[in-house]
Amino acid sequence: MLIIPEDRDASQGLLGMLPNELVLMIREAYPASDLVFHARFDQLSEHVPRLYDADTDFWRRLCYSNGIGCLKNEESRMMNWKALALECELHTRICYQPGCGEAKLSENTTWTSNRLRQKEPIVTVRASGQSVKDTRPYSSHDDLNQHIIALRSFACFPPVDNMQVNLFTTTTPSLCVNNVSGATVHDIQDGINIVEQYEYTLSTLDLY
Ligand SMILES: [Zn+2]
Repeated sequence: MLIIPEDRDASQGLLGMLPNELVLMIREAYPASDLVFHARFDQLSEHVPRLYDADTDFWRRLCYSNGIGCLKNEESRMMNWKALALECELHTRICYQPGCGEAKLSENTTWTSNRLRQKEPIVTVRASGQSVKDTRPYSSHDDLNQHIIALRSFACFPPVDNMQVNLFTTTTPSLCVNNVSGATVHDIQDGINIVEQYEYTLSTLDLY
C-alpha cells in the first residue's frame, strides 16, 4: 500500500503524491544525459525541480553532454543552464531539421570527430592537429538564430577552445575562432559572416 506523505498535493497528480525516493527512482531510470526526459520530468510536478536543485551543476553538465555550450561572449558561470535546457527541449517539439532538434541532440551525444554525417561540407575545421569537416547548415545568420540547438552545438567533438578554419581553397587558415567554453556552430557562423562582410567591403572598395 502506497502511503502518501502529508506534504504532497493531490492536485499535482500521481507524481506529486509520490515520496521523493520513488520520484528519484523514476528519474534515475533514465540516462543522466537525456536532456528531453529531464527537461520534461522537471516540469511534471512542482516538487520535482527541488530534487534537481540539490545538484547545482546538473543542468550545465546536461547541456554539455548534449553538445550544447556557451556562445563566445557568454560566461559559463553566469548562464542559466536550466533555462537553456528547457528552451532546447521546447525546440525539439517544433523543429525536425536533421541538423537541429532532437536529431541533433542525439547526434551530439554520440558524435566523434571522425564520424561525419553531413553530406556537403563547406568549411574545413582543423582542431587538435586533425582535420574534420563541419558545415553551414543554414544559409544566413538569421536562419541559424531560429534554431537554438544547431546554434549552440559545439562545432566539433570533443569541443575545442580554438579553431583555425579554412574558408577558401588555400592552405592558410582564413578564420580563427576562440571560445574558452568550446567553439560552437554559432561562433563559426559568426566568424564566417564577419569574413564575408570584410571580403565584400574590400571588393566594394576595389571598384573605386
Ligand atoms: Zn531547429
